[in-house]
Amino acid sequence: MTENIQTMPRLSLTAQGIPDDILGPILAEGTDPSFISFGGGLPCPEGFPVDAMRRACDEVLRSSAQRALQYSGPQGEIELREAVARYETEQRGTPTTPDEVLITSGSQQGLDLCARAFCDPGSRILVQRPTYIGALEAFNLSRPAYVELPEGPDGLEPEAIGEEARGARFAYILPTFSNPTGRTLGRAAREALAERARSLDFWILEDDPYGELWYRKAPPCTIRSLAPERTIRMSSFSKILAPGIRLGYITGPARVIRILTLIQSFAVLSTPAVNQLAAARVLSSGLMETHLPEVRAIYLEHAEAMLSELEELMPRHPEIHWTHPEGGMFIWLHLPKQLDTFAMMHRAIEKKILYLPGQFFYALRPDVNCIRLAFVTVRKDLMREGVKRLSSLIRDELHL
Ligand code: PMP
Repeated sequence: MTENIQTMPRLSLTAQGIPDDILGPILAEGTDPSFISFGGGLPCPEGFPVDAMRRACDEVLRSSAQRALQYSGPQGEIELREAVARYETEQRGTPTTPDEVLITSGSQQGLDLCARAFCDPGSRILVQRPTYIGALEAFNLSRPAYVELPEGPDGLEPEAIGEEARGARFAYILPTFSNPTGRTLGRAAREALAERARSLDFWILEDDPYGELWYRKAPPCTIRSLAPERTIRMSSFSKILAPGIRLGYITGPARVIRILTLIQSFAVLSTPAVNQLAAARVLSSGLMETHLPEVRAIYLEHAEAMLSELEELMPRHPEIHWTHPEGGMFIWLHLPKQLDTFAMMHRAIEKKILYLPGQFFYALRPDVNCIRLAFVTVRKDLMREGVKRLSSLIRDELHL
């Protein structure tokens, strides 16, 4: 039996506040091949550019092994910062220079660095309803006071942000193909948010790891392009290359990047140089021009299959509806108010189906009747069976 972590002697108040891992053991069941899991939220491994990564690592070790195997500079390898600055400027319409880029170990580390840089215990930070569970976990280590932002059809109603937001440390925003909902803020909402951030004086933390995974049409301009003086933007190589290389980046005003760089170097000294140099080669080789369309096509195919199975198989009920993402890897399913999707999990396990209960994606006041469905790792030939099991679970719960 595992020991309850909070009973260990000498734990910090922060560590004492960490809840036991409830979801991990449940999701681990999904590795049993008889299960169909919409739970995990991992990128599709068919989209990893294996050959290009192998070639890039080989070239790096042949041409610059001593540098690649040494500690990296604290802000990240200049080739990668230049490649990121070029990409943000040219592809994402967000003028960026290499001194405005910090390379991180995934954007998860970016979330941790921002919390350390901007939060004291009790600091107000603004979050969407729902929001990314991993961000809440990273922020919780700084023990902030959350304020939830007004919800809107695309995930946020910026015009309704009022005085409660004035002087907050930052607003954590998932503008594009959000985790967990798959929703995207339109341009007007982005502009309104930038205006509110200026008038109420808070930073915007723009977390955008999914922006390149659009299916048919590129998303609206980045928030950083609308408010560069008060936006800290994070993105990641996890979804466009592979999460195993643990590389992401933060872009923002150079003075913010300087403080985040120092905090990062105190924690980890540097980000792995060999991975950075390999990623820089892949980015500057032009591979992304062929690779990204392939990844988008895989994701579109999965999304279309999932949405059409839901349409066909879900019970018809006025309170059952779901989002229709235009990119990324998540669908947010709403069920009737009386259902508690976490309480339903043991019956889901009996049916050998897994999902993530929505209540874990809220900082405060959780809605218990929602589910996050991650669909890009489910084999296409199992998708129909997975949605059938889910729909049968819901029918049973509603006695339909
Ligand atoms: N932000 C969001 C919204 C995410 O969904 C994830 C990964 N699930 C991350 C950040 C962290 O990703 P990574 O550290 O792999 O870049």
